[in-house]
Amino acid sequence: NCKNADDVLKAVRDYNISFVQFWFVDILGTLKSFQITPKELESAFEEGMGFDGSSILGFTRIEESDMIALPDPKTFQICSWRPSQRPVARMFCDIQNPDGTPYEGDSRWVLKKTLNKAADKGYTFYVGPELEFFLFANEKGTQIIDKGGYFDAPPLDLGNDIRRDIIFSLEEMGYDVEYSHHEVAPSQHEIDLRYSECMRMADTAMTYRVIVKKVARKHGIYATFMPKPMYGVNGSGMHVHQSLFKNGRNVFFDPNDEYHLSPEGKSYIAGILKHCPEFTCVTNQWVNSYKRLVPGYEAPVYVAWARKNRSTLVRVPMYKPGKECATRMELRSPDPAANPYLCFAVMLAAGLKGIEEEYKLPDPIEENVFAMDAPTLEEHGITALPGNLYEAAVAMKKSELVKECLGEHIHTNLYKNKIKEWDAYRTQITEYELKTYLPVL
Ligand code: GLN
Ligand code: MG
Ligand code: MG
Ligand code: MG
Repeated sequence: NCKNADDVLKAVRDYNISFVQFWFVDILGTLKSFQITPKELESAFEEGMGFDGSSILGFTRIEESDMIALPDPKTFQICSWRPSQRPVARMFCDIQNPDGTPYEGDSRWVLKKTLNKAADKGYTFYVGPELEFFLFANEKGTQIIDKGGYFDAPPLDLGNDIRRDIIFSLEEMGYDVEYSHHEVAPSQHEIDLRYSECMRMADTAMTYRVIVKKVARKHGIYATFMPKPMYGVNGSGMHVHQSLFKNGRNVFFDPNDEYHLSPEGKSYIAGILKHCPEFTCVTNQWVNSYKRLVPGYEAPVYVAWARKNRSTLVRVPMYKPGKECATRMELRSPDPAANPYLCFAVMLAAGLKGIEEEYKLPDPIEENVFAMDAPTLEEHGITALPGNLYEAAVAMKKSELVKECLGEHIHTNLYKNKIKEWDAYRTQITEYELKTYLPVL
């Protein structure tokens, strides 16, 4: 547990570290990494390490292509998936312009800015994401490796040895794992981390994705966070449990309220509900993400909240009703292929906006929203999430809230990137069309 550069330099000597990886992400949350030898480390802490920003997606501005990666010593950890002899360590980096100012295209900076806004009000933001994934025989197709379902145990669950090794690998890096189980779809799995402070959790989510893929590889299996790899069964979500603490107390908690929610808690949820369609392009950033957000697969489609009902967008879990530290809201729309930094930032921005403007929380919807017809949905004032990437990108483009949160640079570049992706997709001729139309038209 390093606190500063000196701690890191000592750890590198004590553990005989061979290389130190510098990690950061592009605007889509793709992990970028380069490694340095320990003798470079001291100057790297002082001056950062230079790299060519114009080669990184969303960093593209030829005229400012010289970027600096400045490692954050608090994130120093030994990589549990690398050899234990002469181990490899890694740190997350903040990206700076050559003049030392934070780079506005850096997702970590966007999250930091939003967390600072919360901190100004005395809030610490805690998140607990549940990342689901599929295990397939290889990356060329969707050949399942077991036929298990929700909570199935071996012999139906054939992923348990892989999950076990993933958990050991996570624990070796100091991450607390709470749950692990087979998910609803065949060959689908989930490993849940204990909630923690948001920046640490965003870094953890990046590490989690690496570990899951690396460990699966060692077993000769391919792990994927693709949101909806198979037609007709559940997709993979990343439900995000969220709460705000102030002076060690859970701000969302009120023991006397019928939902055990304080006015701030309610306004926070109202903020999420109101702005979710605008930020869905961030939490669900791929064409494929919208194949998951359809009725019938435990993924949300409509904007509503409930305590128990899992068809809604937001759930206030009631496992331990009235227990202060367990009081939280769960947003069910994000998927595990999102950029965790931007994903957590837009959620928090929406919730804070709700608190600031004292948004009113609508009534919970405890019936199955998927069973409601259009007039009933309208009667309840229930709107829908964007139906595809194009709608989501347009909603994001119009959103002042998302623009303010992401900053002009990422807001504009993400929109352009997503429209390009949509155009590439919409001009394809799919298997479905050939099967449906060719024989009859
Ligand atoms: N896989 C579902 C989703 O897409 C969630 C299922 C569950 O966690 N119960 O969000
Ligand atoms: Mg779960
Ligand atoms: Mg799940
Ligand atoms: Mg959940």
